[in-house]
Amino acid sequence: MRLDVVKDPSLDEFFGPALAADMRNSVYAGGDCRYCGKQLRDGDKVRLDAATEHFPTVWARHATCAPTTATDLASSMITPMTWLTLGLTIPTKSASSKPRQLPLAILNPSVDGFSFRPGVEAWPRSLKDYYLSQGFSEPGNLKLGTASDPHWFGSLNGLEFKFSMSPIGSDYIAKMPIAAPAAIEDWGGVSLILTHSIVPAEAIASEQDFRSFLHGGDYVQAWIPVRK
Ligand SMILES: [Zn+2]
Repeated sequence: MRLDVVKDPSLDEFFGPALAADMRNSVYAGGDCRYCGKQLRDGDKVRLDAATEHFPTVWARHATCAPTTATDLASSMITPMTWLTLGLTIPTKSASSKPRQLPLAILNPSVDGFSFRPGVEAWPRSLKDYYLSQGFSEPGNLKLGTASDPHWFGSLNGLEFKFSMSPIGSDYIAKMPIAAPAAIEDWGGVSLILTHSIVPAEAIASEQDFRSFLHGGDYVQAWIPVRK
């Protein structure tokens, strides 16, 4: 699912080589080209362009596509990025009582670009470090049931879990399994895993894949309370 990303030096110059390399490794097929709007597919050669004023933003395009006018460039910058989610429940261990099902959502917040809040003074070495600086927890350090940020919340409509994490992003939707409503009622929220290291479907392709993804630790976590 990874794309062939051309190594343009301008990205390294602005964001530093470590973060630039992490971004190049974190674009996947399934997103959209900023210029032609067509889907980026397996094996496509792509470039990452950056707008570094105000809200630093990076987006992917086919290596052969280019803006024709300044107007095209401006309109391309407001195109939303492509996010992917997956909802599940997992049994939690409990020494004393019966096992509980923990509601979990996996989010890749963008497979075709990256955005950062204004005013970042020193660029982190990785996207993971950026999210850690924005209120997310290291793997295994999440306090279940305690909101990670007062402005982050979700709601459940049928099996659709809709959640927002201002200013990271809003109105993400994860399709939850049939066991989720009872689990969310039990816990009062959803444990969120945010990652750029994989697309969610690949993270849970098999139990073994899911275990090695969790063990690998290339993600951050947050607790999203669910409003009724
Ligand atoms: Zn294109």
